[in-house]
Amino acid sequence: MRLFSLSRLFLPFYLALSGILLGSECPELVDVASMRRPPLEEIRYATRANFTGEQLYPFPAAYVRKQLIPHLEQIQRELASKGLALKIYDGYRPLPIQQKMWDLIRDERFVSNPAVNRGRHTRGTAVDVTLVDRRGKPVPMPSDFDEFSPRAAVNYRGGTPEERRNRDLLQRVMISHGFLSYPDEWWHFDFKGWEKFPPMRVRFQDLKRCQGPREITAR
Ligand SMILES: [Zn+2]
Repeated sequence: MRLFSLSRLFLPFYLALSGILLGSECPELVDVASMRRPPLEEIRYATRANFTGEQLYPFPAAYVRKQLIPHLEQIQRELASKGLALKIYDGYRPLPIQQKMWDLIRDERFVSNPAVNRGRHTRGTAVDVTLVDRRGKPVPMPSDFDEFSPRAAVNYRGGTPEERRNRDLLQRVMISHGFLSYPDEWWHFDFKGWEKFPPMRVRFQDLKRCQGPREITAR
């Protein structure tokens, strides 16, 4: 009874505090599923089928800063004219999860060290993407997503000509619409000027609260 009344007493404060914490950053993040041409999603970090072997996100979703959305829409439009589309593996990644990945890999070619730059995905300005055809089938690439090997490099000369062509097409289209390539991972792109955006503090489980009811029900 006592606990009950205490929690009733503190609940409004808690809600107000979480509102303040979320309030400033929440409106900055947008679910890519709310795009006019949403990319296909394969959020492996919401499953155990990723390099950590653990489920890192409580549900599958990819959020990015709102500034990226018009660029991603343009990319989708251009790809659609070629019978292709984006598939997204990851967008915003909270800092504690970045830290966990770093602790496992500790190789700055493949995971950014939170102690150095507090990550790239943590700013909501990075996407991990590949190409799919009209039916959603992934086109061949020189390596799998999150394959930490020389095959993941943007300038890898091995693999088949078709794989290299697909990788180079993805690079060209992303770069021509405001993204920067990342030399060690063909799937990773940073929004131009990403360093100017600070890392965010929104927890993954709070992301769905970041958008109004319309967007939530549209998922
Ligand atoms: Zn990435």
